[in-house]
Parts: sequence; structure tokens; C-alpha cells
Amino acid sequence: ALEVRGVHKAYGAQRVLDGVDLTVPPGQVTVILGPSGSGKSTLLRVINHLERPDAGHVILGGELIGVRRHGDRLKELGERAILRQRSRIGFVFQNFNLFPHLTVLENVAAAPVATGQLGRREAQEQARGLLDRVGLADRAGAYPRQLSGGQQQRVAIARALALRPGIVLFDEPTSALDPELVGEVLSVIKGLATGGTTLVVVTHEIGFAREVADHVVFLDGGRIVEQGPPAVVLDHPRHPRTKEFLSRVL
Ligand code: ATP
Ligand code: MG
Repeated sequence: ALEVRGVHKAYGAQRVLDGVDLTVPPGQVTVILGPSGSGKSTLLRVINHLERPDAGHVILGGELIGVRRHGDRLKELGERAILRQRSRIGFVFQNFNLFPHLTVLENVAAAPVATGQLGRREAQEQARGLLDRVGLADRAGAYPRQLSGGQQQRVAIARALALRPGIVLFDEPTSALDPELVGEVLSVIKGLATGGTTLVVVTHEIGFAREVADHVVFLDGGRIVEQGPPAVVLDHPRHPRTKEFLSRVL
């Protein structure tokens, strides 16, 4: 399970996360909703320790992320240990972030080779399998610029799976796409969900949340103001901020 416990994060005087507690059981899909600036991206960045929380901590599979206990304090782990932990957490960004000078196959095969997890041939074999899974087996030799946004994002998803992470985080994976390309990416993510991968997805796609999420979290002003099953949070929200937000995005 992923456990976020009492996480606070401020930039200067601005409180961006103000006591976030969240549990994501293995194999479940959590969708995070919330207005711009509510702290959604910061929460994902804290989960994989791209940001260190000012207070609180993150536990994944029973292991503290980014820190270790030192008496009754938490001490930052070394860079190598952090990279090792981060390799177990897949991350898919809004803007794909593929390596432009590498082919699709090389993009997906690169990380397991760089980390020594797989040899080059094994990594490429695995990459072909992953590309097949996202429907792009026939584009293995293409460069990112030769692909549509939706195809690039599907490559980014295959790449995020290459280190066989225990959990994959998505930060608005479809918000940079033309509307007609959103569906193909959501259906790949849905496939991962069906296959039992643990997912945390920041998205404004309410239909996706309703269909795929086990748990929906509404974040506002750095706090979780409401959370629960999609049928409750999306269709019978209790908090006025959730109602107002949903009335704007639906
Ligand atoms: P959006 O929907 O627009 O992506 P968000 O919910 O992802 O918003 P965050 O990106 O987490 O919001 O940002 C929350 C607040 O923290 C914003 O006001 C932002 O300006 C601020 N913030 C985020 N990162 C930093 C940073 N590195 N330094 C200073 N302020 C930051
Ligand atoms: Mg964001």
C-alpha cells in the first residue's frame, strides 16, 4: 500500500499541502481532483520524493520514502537510495517528457539498462512487449517528434512501466492532448487498472474517474476536503467546494 501521513509542505509563507493523509491499497486506483493550485502536483512530487515534505511522511510497501528513522527524527536518505526507491514509482507527466534523440524503443528500454536491472537485449525485448501493450508495437523505430501527442503519451506510459514499478503516478496525463486523442490514452490507463497496477491519477476527466477509480479524492487549498468511492464523491458530494468544482468541470 501507499500511505501518505500528515504531509505538510509550504513554499515560503504559502501552505501548499496542509496535513494530507491518504491510503492507496495495492491494486487500487485513486483519482485526485481539485482546482488549479490546490496542491495536486506537489502531492505527487512528495510521494516520489522530488519534494521533501516539511512534516509527515510517505510509506510505500512498508518502506519510508526518501528518509529513514534516526532516533525520533527522520533523516534524508542518500541520493542512490532515493533513486532506487524512485525507480519503484512510475511517473507520467502532462508533457510526456520523452527523450527526443532516442527512438520509441530506446525510450522504453533505456532505464532498465541504465540501472543495471536488465541487459540491453532483455530490455529491448521487454520494451517491445510494453509497446505492444500500449498499442504501439509498430512504431518502435520512430522518434517522438514523428508521433501524435496521444502516441507520445502512450510511449511515456510504457516507459514508466519499464522498471516494473509497484505504483504509477499520473499528473494530468491527457490535459496537453487534443480532445480526439484523450480517449486512447485513458483506455491504456484503464487497461493498467484492470491488470491490477496500483495507480494514482490526477485528472479532470470525471467520466474516467467514475468508471475506473476505486477511490476519489478532492483536494482544495492543500487539504483533502472530501474522499470516498466515485459514486459518493462525484454524484453525491457533501462539501460545498466539491459541488462547486464539479459543477464547473462537468
Ligand atoms: P494545477 O492544476 O494548475 O496543475 P496543482 O493542484 O497541481 O495545480 P501545484 O502545482 O501543486 O498545484 O501548486 C500548488 C501551489 O504551490 C501553487 O500556488 C504553486 O504556485 C505553488 N508552487 C508549486 N511548486 C512551487 C515551487 N517549486 N516554488 C514555489 N511555489 C510553488
Ligand atoms: Mg498540477
